[in-house]
Amino acid sequence: MKIARIKDILAGETYAILSNDAGKLITRSEIQEQTGIPLPPTVKDFIFNDWTNEVMAYQKDLEYDTSLDAVELLAPLPNPPTIICLAFNYYDHAKDAGLMPSDEPVIFIKPRTTLNSPYSDIICPPFVKRLDYEAEIAVVIGKRTKAVSEEEALDSVFGYMIMHDVSARDIQFKDKQFTRGKGIDTFAPCGPWITTKDEISDPQNLAIVTRVNDEVRQNSSSLNMVIPIKRIISSLSSVMTIEAGDIISTGTPAGVAMSMADPKYLKDGDIVEIAIEKLGKIRNRVTVK
Ligand code: MG
Repeated sequence: MKIARIKDILAGETYAILSNDAGKLITRSEIQEQTGIPLPPTVKDFIFNDWTNEVMAYQKDLEYDTSLDAVELLAPLPNPPTIICLAFNYYDHAKDAGLMPSDEPVIFIKPRTTLNSPYSDIICPPFVKRLDYEAEIAVVIGKRTKAVSEEEALDSVFGYMIMHDVSARDIQFKDKQFTRGKGIDTFAPCGPWITTKDEISDPQNLAIVTRVNDEVRQNSSSLNMVIPIKRIISSLSSVMTIEAGDIISTGTPAGVAMSMADPKYLKDGDIVEIAIEKLGKIRNRVTVK
């Protein structure tokens, strides 16, 4: 199931599920009308209180009448408890940066205020001069998780989506840590929807492509991930409680601007498009202001 959070002229902010080919959608109120199931008002309650299972039984018979163009897609989860991000978790990216990847997750936290819609502008403050892109697979956690084994870890996954870990390299390198340079408002476009894990048979084998103004910059696969998702969850859960709604962004592959001999950092008006196999595509313009 593909679950989007949307803004619609009639319904306001609500949620919807997409048809299998992701061409059309059906809103919460339309699902209620067609199934008689009294769905909760927020996407968070829909996702984390087992309503998706209830609706899945009817999924094939629903009438998906609304075109995606008719609504605005929003960040799928408005207020996750925590957004955890991994650094240098791709062999190709670490090699480009001249680093040996760690065998344990190196993490930082992005503030919730970075969350941005899948097609909205990335607002770059004028003092940031080295703005970079990072395409990532983000895991949406489905239940409270503490000290799980690798074998159990994927039971905690609700689904997956794209996350763009926008990064101000000048601040990141000045601070010698990640949070401020990656914590600027709008620096986490995500979505375009959450794809439930039953549709992703192998999260470690998904193609990842980033284009800037139609030029391919990142072209890799989650096959190159150093610490796989099950080990990330197991390892993190040995130190912290992971909660339903937490987002874990799993790191970016090679091809970012900072690793180029002559870095092509993002500038005002650039369009960044990230496509990940089975998860869709997000597209954001950079606006300096
Ligand atoms: Mg990153």
